[in-house]
Amino acid sequence: MLGLTLREASAALREGKVSATELCQRCLASIKETSSVNAYITVRDAGALQQAEAADKRHRRGQALGPLDGIPVAVKDNFSTAGVETTCASKMLKGYIPPYNATVVQKLLDQGAVLLGKTNLDEFAMGCGSTDSIFGPVRNPWSYSQQYREKSAQTGQISDEDADWVITGGSSGGSAAAVSAFTCFAALGSDTGGSTRNPAAHCGVVGLKPTYGLLSRHGLIPLVNSMDVPGILTRCVDDAAVVLGVLAGHDPKDSTMVQEPFQPFTLPSNLDVSKLCVGIPKEYHAPGLSRETVALWTKAADLLENAGAKIVEVSLPHTRYSIVCYHVLCATEVASNMARFDGLQYGHRCDVDNSTEAMYAATRREGFNDVVRGRILSGTFFLLKENYKHYFLKAQKVRRLIAEDFVKVFHSGVDILLTPTTLGDATQFKEFIKEDNRTRSAQEDIFTQSANMAGLPAVTLPAALSARGLPLGLQFIARAFCEHQLLTVARWLEKQVDFPVLRWQAVPDREHPVLQHNKLASLP
Ligand code: GLN
Repeated sequence: MLGLTLREASAALREGKVSATELCQRCLASIKETSSVNAYITVRDAGALQQAEAADKRHRRGQALGPLDGIPVAVKDNFSTAGVETTCASKMLKGYIPPYNATVVQKLLDQGAVLLGKTNLDEFAMGCGSTDSIFGPVRNPWSYSQQYREKSAQTGQISDEDADWVITGGSSGGSAAAVSAFTCFAALGSDTGGSTRNPAAHCGVVGLKPTYGLLSRHGLIPLVNSMDVPGILTRCVDDAAVVLGVLAGHDPKDSTMVQEPFQPFTLPSNLDVSKLCVGIPKEYHAPGLSRETVALWTKAADLLENAGAKIVEVSLPHTRYSIVCYHVLCATEVASNMARFDGLQYGHRCDVDNSTEAMYAATRREGFNDVVRGRILSGTFFLLKENYKHYFLKAQKVRRLIAEDFVKVFHSGVDILLTPTTLGDATQFKEFIKEDNRTRSAQEDIFTQSANMAGLPAVTLPAALSARGLPLGLQFIARAFCEHQLLTVARWLEKQVDFPVLRWQAVPDREHPVLQHNKLASLP
């Protein structure tokens, strides 16, 4: 049941082959069975079952709402959910229960989707490992796969099972792991610099970052307002298109949205790529890019070329400034966004009563981790009167140049760009924490951040397994608002590569794929 795609599950519900209650119960059981993955911060057992029962009633009366009616989904814990704790994986918001739903969450609920729970992340979505959470790190479900265990054992990499699991990437690692471990059919993430695409690539699922302004940010707790977008994580490209169709569309509560109504689309099952011009950005041959990722990238370009597409090398010359530019802009927006967490209105408040100032300072010192505090401090530095011009204004100008690089390439006749999503496969946790997460974060996002600065849509799809048996993703970037083309091409490639998804049916004894190593699965 859990091995179905969202579209298949939706059809099964409509045809009465399965009930929403059964689906929901199976997902809740799966969440428990895979609890060592630590994908969820909050699980809504009773609430989800109630919603599922309501969906069953609608289905029985022939009043189903749409493709998501009765479908179990998960939502990253930085989206406000009415009556459901929303923590951003931070001490600062622990215990905070929002009085309203983020618009995208409301749209899911209005369409009958069953909200299973809230997923784990790096504190306030700052990071690329999903390791910086007060609820502990998220473990990549592929760490428990037969392939990874066997291949790593052959290369002598597995010694102590407890320490050899790999990270999910981040910051939406909980959502990516939830989808990849078959605990839900789709999940919401957020993407400011790659936080949906990076973990999707590491967990072997599809991660869509829509065009800025297409999905409402209302109720998504902001990181960088000018770059944040809700992201969609699913097990196949087609499912991402279904969820996009439900979520997109104007929202008066987000003034940065486009006004035009969005036309939901169905992806064509066949695409003639012979008229397609695919750009390969030469600057994306970045330091640290693994050999197998380069090989995979080349293989995908060859597949497109053999099918008649034109492959051209293109230049995005300002790519090399993107990480530092992102860093300045991110920190400055963080410095102003985080001002709202002062201990008076939300969540954590420190027990200091000598003065309001002292209470603010102590609350913020205690409430935020050092990554968040570091960004607030550097952002405040960049915004000082004497620094503003040299840092903030300059970064704004560089951002414009980065965006113009894409405009030029797309004007030259290129339809779509093909790039890696990450430098290589997922790192083992014990290696990841040796290196400073922030440095790591900066390196990993080289292929993803530019699309955020330019506001462009991008999607990652799982394309192969690495020598260690871990997923590797490839990314397509398209013109603004060309999601239809983006997903159509991604779907074409998805069919060619035939990625070995950890399919429920593929497990001989019907044991959960993540549970193949019982010892690991029972870790706290
Ligand atoms: N890794 C980047 C950062 O730490 C991107 C985060 C995101 O997209 N939310 O800021």
